[in-house]
Amino acid sequence: MKLIWLLTVAMAGVAALIALPGVLAEPGAAVPDLTWLALVPLFALAEVVVVHLPTQRNAHGHTLREIPAVLGLTFLMPQQYVTAYVLGAVVGLVVAARMRGAKLAFNTALFALEAALGALAYHAILQGADPLSLTGWMAVLVAVLLTDLISAAAVTTAISLTERAFDGEVLHEALRWGSAAAFINTCVALLVATLVLVQPSALPLLGVVVVLLVIGYRHYISLFRGHARTQLLYRFVDRTSSAGSPEEIVEIVVREAAALMHAERAYLVEFLDDHRVRCSSLVHDTLRTESLDLGGQSAWWLRSLDGDVVRHESPGRPGHREAPAPAQEPTLMSVPREGLAASLRGGGSTRYVLVVCDRTFEKESFGSEDVQVFEALAAHAGVAVERARSVGDLEALAEQLESARDAALAASNAKSMFLANMSHEIRTPLTTVLAASELLEDTELDELQGKLLERLQLSGGLLLSLVESLLDFSRIESGHTTLHEAEFDLPAMVRDIVDASLPRARRQGLVLEWAMEPGTPRLVTGDRTRVVQVLNNLVDNALKFTPHGGVRVDVRPYCDDGDRGVQLVVADTGIGIDQDDQATIFEAFRQVDGSSTRQYAGTGLGLAICKQLAELMGGTISVSGAPGEGSTFTLRLPLTADPAPAAADSDPSRQVAAH
Ligand code: ADP
Repeated sequence: MKLIWLLTVAMAGVAALIALPGVLAEPGAAVPDLTWLALVPLFALAEVVVVHLPTQRNAHGHTLREIPAVLGLTFLMPQQYVTAYVLGAVVGLVVAARMRGAKLAFNTALFALEAALGALAYHAILQGADPLSLTGWMAVLVAVLLTDLISAAAVTTAISLTERAFDGEVLHEALRWGSAAAFINTCVALLVATLVLVQPSALPLLGVVVVLLVIGYRHYISLFRGHARTQLLYRFVDRTSSAGSPEEIVEIVVREAAALMHAERAYLVEFLDDHRVRCSSLVHDTLRTESLDLGGQSAWWLRSLDGDVVRHESPGRPGHREAPAPAQEPTLMSVPREGLAASLRGGGSTRYVLVVCDRTFEKESFGSEDVQVFEALAAHAGVAVERARSVGDLEALAEQLESARDAALAASNAKSMFLANMSHEIRTPLTTVLAASELLEDTELDELQGKLLERLQLSGGLLLSLVESLLDFSRIESGHTTLHEAEFDLPAMVRDIVDASLPRARRQGLVLEWAMEPGTPRLVTGDRTRVVQVLNNLVDNALKFTPHGGVRVDVRPYCDDGDRGVQLVVADTGIGIDQDDQATIFEAFRQVDGSSTRQYAGTGLGLAICKQLAELMGGTISVSGAPGEGSTFTLRLPLTADPAPAAADSDPSRQVAAH
């Protein structure tokens, strides 16, 4: 404010210097026909019918001052002109805008400077020539445009001083719209002045034309305003909908509400319950959110909860009395000079209120049009805040799900660890029992004891394989299995497995054969033990679920999109698996026939372990076939190959037979 006062004094000083007798020389040829007092109400009227032109972010006030200015320049002595100008315009401001304090002083000094410089320029160009000559018109045009230029520059300086930043856009807009309006008004005023001198009886007719012009002009302005308002709201919607996080949306709502309403402060108030609110506002350009306890206090903006926009005006508005600068930063609870508040629609069950306080320097108080704009703004803000809330809810839900998933994973890991520990603990005494039973076999036993021992060993063996499966499964699940890679002979490995299962195949009357396709590498690198475990399981299953016919193991290379490896296919002519079961048999404890009366023994863990191991080795396992037509299990492993293909065992196929 101090700077504004300084500017005011400087302008008044310059105006006084110019207007002092002697500086503004008395023009000899002026036509002092009109009494200067007659122009005072004209200047006052011009100030009252000020028209605001809204542009992108600002609104510029344009008076019809050019008309009395032209008449004054043409018919009055310079000092009379300055006096009539300042007096009339100040009366207009006090009556229409009830303006007092710094704003009034600033404007008075500005009027004085405008009038003095305008008169100086006019008479300097006119040099006593006829006011209605071409020189006279030029002098008027220059003087009036100069006046508008000074006005735009002073207002821009004042805004820049109060906002502590130069806004070139304001100056540009003011000049653009200001000079166009000033030019039209000056031409009309020159017509009036000419008629006053040439044919005063035609003045009423001209009055009608001027009134019609003003009506048309105002109509155009209101259309223009509507358009500008729509544009501003559109920008608001656009910005809030492109915001990502809830905080960003709240920040945009607060920032844009203050900017659009030309308010010094804006608050978004969220009601947590009947007494507590959360208030978001911009402090030093950063979003600050704080909780407030209303504790029964009443605030002017609370009335907006009833549904309507509330307009607040302190009894001592700045127009009447300059409000003393508050000791500390004003807050939501401090009483503003003026303010608007509206509850947000579309805010769901939570209640929100949008509050803007105190107009910035260049604006008058909030008018009824501002209330309309604010209402629309609140409606859009409601939608934006609702969106912010649902984004926030989704984020909270995602967080909950994440922690639930972490907890479930931890529980599952703990379960696997427990299973692994238990299986290990059970296996140790079990192997001792089996070892003891083997020792018992070598002692003198009668027939019954022999049979019981055999049963003991059989059940013990099954139990041991079950415990080992469990141990394997839980170890892999809890991530405690490591692979030991080394080079091994692939055909030899397959042959060993087939050879080991041959006696069983023979017993069941089945054909068991294997073959290796030419081109398959012989020496490969991988974890032989794990490959054996998977292949053994597949061959065991194939023999178990095949009542007649045979089982065939095929080994061949594969190459898919640059992925290379070895494919081990175990095909049988057994009972087969239907499509639905094929999708689930790789899950732990899944069996096609899960009933207690099932024909085939087993735990349902074998294929789950096979799948886990295959994936651990970077490969896949799959099944195909149909009930009654046998099953084909395909194990694909990226076993890295020795460049030299198998030679010794590359004979097309080798049959190891049954019967
Ligand atoms: P288990 O054999 O111990 O029951 P697995 O995990 O090895 O457990 O197999 C799961 C189920 O998949 C078996 O119970 C069986 O129903 C089905 N299955 C596995 N291999 C074959 C096969 N070669 N032919 C038909 N069914 C099979």
